[in-house]
Amino acid sequence: MLSNALAYAREHAQMFLASLTELLAIPSVSMEPEHAADMVHAAEWLADYLQRIGMSEVDLLPSDGRPLLYAAWQRAGPDAPTLLLYGHYDVQPVDPLAEWRTPPFTPTRLGDDLFARGASDDKGQTFACIAALEAYLQSAGRLPINVKLIIEGEEEVSSTFLRRFVVEQSARLACDAVLLVDSSMLSPTLPLVMYGARGNCYMEIEVVGPATDLHSGAFGGAVENPFNVLARLLAGLQDAQTRRVLVDGFYDAVHPLQPEEQTLLAGLPLNEAALLHMTGAPALAGETGYSAIERATVRPTLDIHGISGGFTGPGKKTVIPARASAKFSMRLVPDQDPLVIARLVEEHLRCQTPPTVTLTVKTLSASRPAVVDYRLPLMQTVAQAYQAAFGAAPALMRGGGTLPIMADFQDALAAPLALIGFGLPDDNLHAPNEKLHLPCFYHGIEMMVHCLAQLATDA
Ligand SMILES: [Zn+2]
Repeated sequence: MLSNALAYAREHAQMFLASLTELLAIPSVSMEPEHAADMVHAAEWLADYLQRIGMSEVDLLPSDGRPLLYAAWQRAGPDAPTLLLYGHYDVQPVDPLAEWRTPPFTPTRLGDDLFARGASDDKGQTFACIAALEAYLQSAGRLPINVKLIIEGEEEVSSTFLRRFVVEQSARLACDAVLLVDSSMLSPTLPLVMYGARGNCYMEIEVVGPATDLHSGAFGGAVENPFNVLARLLAGLQDAQTRRVLVDGFYDAVHPLQPEEQTLLAGLPLNEAALLHMTGAPALAGETGYSAIERATVRPTLDIHGISGGFTGPGKKTVIPARASAKFSMRLVPDQDPLVIARLVEEHLRCQTPPTVTLTVKTLSASRPAVVDYRLPLMQTVAQAYQAAFGAAPALMRGGGTLPIMADFQDALAAPLALIGFGLPDDNLHAPNEKLHLPCFYHGIEMMVHCLAQLATDA
């Protein structure tokens, strides 16, 4: 069954590419209301495709105009394991459009790369999974195990519907393993399995002083300058030397890094030189006492994203701005609770705010961190599948980014879970000239073919 499915996948590689090209041509930008019809179109295209290849249950759930697609094939019997696969068909907006070398929704092949918005994140990766299911269903008429598939249309707009669906429909989603297919490899020859994701707490604060902007010659020294206060508040969030967050209780729930995990991280080809090269920064920076890769994956952080207010135009204007605001967020690690962190930060800021201004604090989003035991058998199974398809065992690490549904899946399904993918670090996700490296796509299909077989064998 495995060799037939692999043969089918290889023989139909060009057909898979042609189908993916069709899907990529649909501008399913979830963030932009003018693409509402395209969202439905992309979901229906996928539903139709899944029906045609022989998935026995295909359901489109409305989800406020960005349908959630649920599909299943459960004829392997109650004793066979069930795998839940996750991907998404919504994509990021394309601006700045002028920087695209090829039109974002006219998929264009240049050498070994396919350029289009969503090529890597996440239509290409999602479609690799579908192609693997097709390879079995068309060559053998069945899958080696039971498979459930969720493809959402709201990943780029915070997965609101799916997060509720996972809780409310947990019985329907019951499974033995979850693979979230929305990630990158370290290079075309070095796959990566991620067993965790950081959480995020995103906040916006505003400092308000005088009723209107004032002349600093007439009033400077007599009234508070909200921008000065804002700068002090932001500076007071983090120690300038150790880079530790200075909010009381911020680190209370953080677990110390275990030596085995430290060794695992130290073995990755992501040393300081590699990070310097990737970022173009003059030097690396971060919390004292941890390596750069530890700081970027398993330690919490705080970053300011934007500060606004006052005068920033050309020339000079001696204004005391009436208000100033800033956005910042903290990447969180297990077991930091983003809502608790938001409260601690707000208390800290309020304590530091002088009575000469008023402070508004908003939490824009709160996503929980997640981690899975990397010694679970699922990681071995996935590693073997990567080894078979890519000729290399994957590196193992926690991701530094945030994937809110990871914690939701963990809570609701109590099944082992891993984050895998076939993208590359230079795929230009969320940026102009997004691409998919086609050898990764083809090997990704084969990896999923192997993975289904391996899950059946290991059961
Ligand atoms: Zn994605």
